[in-house]
This record gives sequence, C-alpha cells and structure tokens, in this order.
Amino acid sequence: MKLTANIDLREVVPKSFWEAKKHRAVRFIDAGLVMAAQWMMRRYKWDSIMINDWMYGGQSEQRGLRIPGQKLYRGDGAHDTGRALDIIPRRGDENARDLVAEFHEHAATYPRLYFANNIWRIETIQLAPTWIHIDSIIWPDQKEVAFIDMTTRYSPQVYMEMMKKDGIC
Ligand SMILES: [Zn+2]
Repeated sequence: MKLTANIDLREVVPKSFWEAKKHRAVRFIDAGLVMAAQWMMRRYKWDSIMINDWMYGGQSEQRGLRIPGQKLYRGDGAHDTGRALDIIPRRGDENARDLVAEFHEHAATYPRLYFANNIWRIETIQLAPTWIHIDSIIWPDQKEVAFIDMTTRYSPQVYMEMMKKDGIC
C-alpha cells in the first residue's frame, strides 16, 4: 500500500504488525512525516530512500514504527509512537555517509524548511552517521522543545526565534 509516490506503508512498520493490521497499520504512523520523507527525496534529488526493507527480503523492521518485543523498542521513544523514521538516502553509487553529511549541512542552514515540513527533530550526525533520523515529536508547551539538534551550532532558543519570526509558532 503506497503512502506516497515512493514510500509504501510496509516500509514504515514491522512485518508482523503489517500482517496483523494490513492497511489499518496506517493509523499507527505519522503520515505527515512520511510525506516529509518524500519531500526530502525530491529536495535532495535522491534516487530512492531506504527505510524498512523487509518487504524486499531485507532484515530492517525497526526504522519506522517500533512495537513491543523489538530490540530497540523502549516504550516512550519517538519510533515507539510512530513519529520517527530512520532514512538511508541513495543516489547513484554515492556513499550514504556523504549524502547524510550533505543533508545535515543544508538542514543546519535552513532549519525553517524542516519545521514547515513537519520535521521537528533531526538527530545529530554523531548519533546517526549513516542514516537520517527525523521525528515529529512536539511538546504541548513548545518553549523548550521545538528544535533541530543535528548541530550544536545553534541553541533551541535560536531556532525558536527564527520560527517566531516566520510565524510558525
Ligand atoms: Zn531513529
């Protein structure tokens, strides 16, 4: 079941979850975030993005929604609530690490683009060197929360000022 032009629902949920829920599994994933991933693919002219690959015979099942019993499930993480994706970008035979670095460099310069696309957090390149972790976790009181932490170049407060200026929050 396609969610966007290039992303299938099965790529963002575990295999057993898909088998139990089928198309209703869509209720457990932030579809806006999936659309954001599609936007990233076009924005960076990636040929494809890899999230879970179990539907293609691969082993990855924990790059989108995580469920109890999975190794990386911890109960209250962004993945555990269907609000995070771990994306491996692909373009020709370029190294994923280089594409990830290129993405981080750009994202640090234009953080507002990412907020506007429902991406509220991007993990640091130190935490995620060969993939891109994006999530849409927002606290009710956004004063201390809305931030992109892929770099220590700016504090969350600086991002908040930028967003206020743009009328995003
Ligand atoms: Zn992640």
